[in-house]
Amino acid sequence: MVDKPLLAIVVPCYNEEEVLPETVRRLTALLEQLLEEGAVAIGSHIVFVDDGSRDRTWALIEEESERNPFVSGVKLARNVGHQRALLAGLETVRAYADCAVSIDADLQDDVEAIREFVQKYREGYDIVYGVRRSRKTDTWFKRTTAQAFYRFMQALGIKLIYNHADFRLMSKRALDELSRYTEVNLFLRGLIPLVGFRSTCVFYDRHERWAGQSKYPLKKMLAFAFDGITSLSVAPIRAITLIGFLAFLISGAAGLYALIVKWLGHAESGWTSLMISVWFIGGLVLMSLGLIGEYIGKIYQEVKRRPRFAIEKTVQLPLPSEREKT
Ligand code: UDP
Ligand code: MG
Repeated sequence: MVDKPLLAIVVPCYNEEEVLPETVRRLTALLEQLLEEGAVAIGSHIVFVDDGSRDRTWALIEEESERNPFVSGVKLARNVGHQRALLAGLETVRAYADCAVSIDADLQDDVEAIREFVQKYREGYDIVYGVRRSRKTDTWFKRTTAQAFYRFMQALGIKLIYNHADFRLMSKRALDELSRYTEVNLFLRGLIPLVGFRSTCVFYDRHERWAGQSKYPLKKMLAFAFDGITSLSVAPIRAITLIGFLAFLISGAAGLYALIVKWLGHAESGWTSLMISVWFIGGLVLMSLGLIGEYIGKIYQEVKRRPRFAIEKTVQLPLPSEREKT
C-alpha cells in the first residue's frame, strides 16, 4: 500500500458562478471525510482554475479561499479553453502534490468516485480513469455523436478509454511524464493513455449539470473532436492518398470506357460523365487540400511553441517548499 498522498483536486472553471458554491461544498466535505479516514495527507486541497471567466467566478474563488482552508485558486490571464486550463492546474500542483484528480466544476462527475480513485492510487496505480457507466443523462444527439466519435478514433488506431472524459487521477510521476508532451493542440484524454504506467478504471454514474449551461456548444464540440483526430493521427492524410489512388483507378477505367464508346461511334454522349468527373475530382482535390491545410495549420501552431497558458495570480497556493512543511 502506497503512503497516504497529498491530493490536489483540480477544477477548471469558466463562468461557473452558479455552480461553484455547491462544488466547493461537496469537494470540501469529501476532503474532510478522506482526511478523517486517513486516506489522504494533511495539505490535500482543491485548486480552482479560473479560465478567464467573465462572471464572478474568480471573486467567488477568492472569497471561498479566505474562509475555507481547502480552497486554492489559480487565475489564468485569459480564456484558453478547458484542456489548457486543466493543464495549467495540473502543472501547478505537480510541484508539490503526490497525485492530482481532475474534475469539471459542474458536478456532472460523481465526487464520491474520488474516494475510489485514491484507493486505487494507494493500491499502486498511477492513472485512474473515471468511466461513465451509462450515458442516460445525455441527449440522444450527444450520445450518438459521442459513440460515433469513439468508434472512429478506435478505427484510426487511437487509444481512447471508452466513455472516459477528463475525470481522472494521476500520480506525480504520470504528471511529470505528461508535462514532457509539449503540444499546443491538447487533447488530454488521448495523450494520457500514451503516458503508460499502471492504470485502471473506476465506473461512476454521470449526472446532469448541477447548474449553469454547458460551455461546449455543438460548434466547440465538433472542433474539439476534430482536434482530437488531427492531433493524434495522420490516418486522414493517408486516407487522402488512398482516395486519390482509387480515383486514379476509377478514372483509368472511365477513360477506357470513353475510348470504347468513341470507337463504337457514340462520342457525343460524353457531356454528363465529363461534368460529373470534373466536379468529383474538383471536390476531392479541394477536400484533400483542406485536410492537408488543417495539418499544416497544426504544424504551424506547434512550431511556434507558444505558451499554452499564463497564470495571472493565485490564492492560497503556498510555494512548494512551504506546502511540504505542513
Ligand atoms: N471550461 C473551461 N474553459 C472553457 C470551457 C469550459 O475551463 O473555455 C470548464 C467548465 O467550467 C467545466 C469544464 O470545463 O468545468 C467542462 O465544461 P462543460 O461542463 O461546459 O462541458 P460539457 O460537460 O458540457 O461537455
Ligand atoms: Mg459538463
